[in-house]
Amino acid sequence: MRLKSLKVFGFKTFAEATTLEFHDGTTAVVGPNGSGKSNLVDAIRWVLGEQSSRSLRSQKMEDVIFAGNQHRKPLGMAEVSLTFDNHDHQLHLDYNELQITRRAYRAGESEFYINREQVRLRDVHELLMGTGLGPGSYAIVSQGQIDAILSSKPTERRALFEETAGIGKFLARKNEALRRLDATEQNAIRVNDLIAELE
Ligand code: ATP
Repeated sequence: MRLKSLKVFGFKTFAEATTLEFHDGTTAVVGPNGSGKSNLVDAIRWVLGEQSSRSLRSQKMEDVIFAGNQHRKPLGMAEVSLTFDNHDHQLHLDYNELQITRRAYRAGESEFYINREQVRLRDVHELLMGTGLGPGSYAIVSQGQIDAILSSKPTERRALFEETAGIGKFLARKNEALRRLDATEQNAIRVNDLIAELE
């Protein structure tokens, strides 16, 4: 799996539609202070399903939409698309190229798309589980994160190791299965109560 390109429109400083192609050997993005380098990383986090505005260095989620400047009016919508080369099928969908898109309007929730087909946030999270790309995972290391990991609680650090080892997705599925089992048990108890009442 390899990052091929990032298309950003209306996200933070990117009022114009801007596409970055990541060719082999791309190792750095350089530019003057405040020009939007970190905003690119925020855009990657956002399209991958980040739900915490703090992790995107914003107060509210709608703050990621271009807020205007002296030359341009604010925009009402932000859209980011991230395209992966998936020839190794590390992302478990049967496509050699995968594009994840997130779109948000000032008033509403985000919309997610995989290869232009609308999906749920949960589908994006499931696609990324175990790849190191999901929210809170290790593929993007932000400023201060190393210190935060070193001073984190053992249980928090363990979650990071579990994701790195690729077992995070199985734990998430196990928890979901346990939750359903519990709900089913509650339903069975309720049904037995009703049967007992009727007898
Ligand atoms: P540095 O090298 O100083 O870290 P940088 O190139 O990483 O800078 P960023 O932090 O990516 O810069 O960008 C900061 C700029 O983004 C600020 O000028 C801020 O005003 C602008 N910005 C953030 N959110 C928005 C928004 N919603 N609309 C317009 N501009 C925004």
